[in-house]
Amino acid sequence: MLDADFFRRWMTATAAAVDREAERLTALDSPIGDADHGSNLQRGFNAVTAAVEKESPQTPGAVLMLAGRQLISTVGGASGPLYGTLLRRTGKALGEAGEVSEDQFAQALRAGVDAVMALGGAAPGDKTMIDALVPAVDALGDGFTAARAAAEEGALATTPLQARKGRASYLGERSIGHQDPGATSSALLIAGLVEANGE
Ligand code: ADP
Ligand code: MG
Repeated sequence: MLDADFFRRWMTATAAAVDREAERLTALDSPIGDADHGSNLQRGFNAVTAAVEKESPQTPGAVLMLAGRQLISTVGGASGPLYGTLLRRTGKALGEAGEVSEDQFAQALRAGVDAVMALGGAAPGDKTMIDALVPAVDALGDGFTAARAAAEEGALATTPLQARKGRASYLGERSIGHQDPGATSSALLIAGLVEANGE
């Protein structure tokens, strides 16, 4: 079972990974964006860890809803509302339970990813964070490490795609040949689950 502590560790592990990889995320956002993805997420996840520490939410759902609110209010750019919606919707789906099963979490995360697709209008293959998140959710039934591998593979597979959503889509065919920054950061988020689980 996964308790509030697990979800707090997930947020802390993701924040640390975003800190470590911020320069790379910004570098990926340079040729097909505006070179701010790393700093956007750094600001957001720093706010997440500070709020989680201060408010110490006591249920899995409350941790994720608080984290989502922080991302929406602190991240400028498209990725803030999208990641914020992902975590808020996932948290909402977990309800008020003190502990949730991995299956319940997988279902909730799917609801979160569906909400991101509804908000941003992106489908798999559009070269966005969805290209890492959908394969991750599909693999989650096989465990966190399987989900991490699927997300990393999904992020790498964005390179040959032409962007159809977000800033990168303005480049048309010139977006081909670059890995999507948001899919890359989504793979970090999913990798955080493995770390939170102590694997
Ligand atoms: P901005 O594009 O506003 O500068 P960021 O640089 O923080 O925002 O994030 C860019 C990432 O957001 C992209 O790499 C992509 O993965 C994701 N993204 C942008 N638009 C969408 C969308 N409509 N649906 C899903 N993801 C999107
Ligand atoms: Mg950007």
